[in-house]
Amino acid sequence: MGIHTEYSCNECGFKLVDSSDIFWIDDEKKIHADMQTVDSSKKSSDALASGGIFKYYCYNCDNYIYNFHVTRKSRFISKEEIIQLVEGLDDNIKIIDFDNRFQSCIHCRQDVPLKSEKSFAIDNKGEFFIEDSLYNDFDSKQFDFSGKYYGYYCNDCKKQINKFVILENNANLNDSLIKEILHDHTNDLTVYINDTFLVCPNCDDELQVLGESSTCPKCRVGLLTIENQTLFD
Ligand SMILES: [Zn+2]
Ligand SMILES: [Zn+2]
Ligand SMILES: [Zn+2]
Repeated sequence: MGIHTEYSCNECGFKLVDSSDIFWIDDEKKIHADMQTVDSSKKSSDALASGGIFKYYCYNCDNYIYNFHVTRKSRFISKEEIIQLVEGLDDNIKIIDFDNRFQSCIHCRQDVPLKSEKSFAIDNKGEFFIEDSLYNDFDSKQFDFSGKYYGYYCNDCKKQINKFVILENNANLNDSLIKEILHDHTNDLTVYINDTFLVCPNCDDELQVLGESSTCPKCRVGLLTIENQTLFD
């Protein structure tokens, strides 16, 4: 099921179209990008690699940036091949990233299998919470920061890899402080990712998602409002 939305600016009439797009690489290593439909979803599930395309905007340098987020990858294609094919798709500015489930061993570099996936949070007293649930459904308590934990094990190196991905940082702690706190709760903190925002590859400014009530990228005065929204499959 896909969503196609048309926005317009209530001041200057600027129009913006947004749709839920996906991409996939077929078994002949050709890349395709299309709206998410039953048909394209089927093709992407049989593909060598696939993922979603998310559109961002940079108010600082007035560029649209496309985030190709790889969520599936078979062992018959390498990360480097995927990056090359996505880069060659068109001239748009892109950020290519791999879902946090993917991890390579930091010692021998081979892909390591995901063993466990949990949610974690730290409260303002420094207490550490970890739950099996994939979603942060801790009680409505205020946390300093929270996110997802992924555990991996490399059979060749006999080493555990712990990855913490920060999704919310309510206390606005800086990276080194977060790392220090996490170190107190794991004997072996190996990977740490701050995922709270994406930055523009062009100017390093924080990227924004344009949607309802966003400031118009053209006149910078009006707000975007939904003019038309269609669901399709
Ligand atoms: Zn290894
Ligand atoms: Zn920029
Ligand atoms: Zn406008």
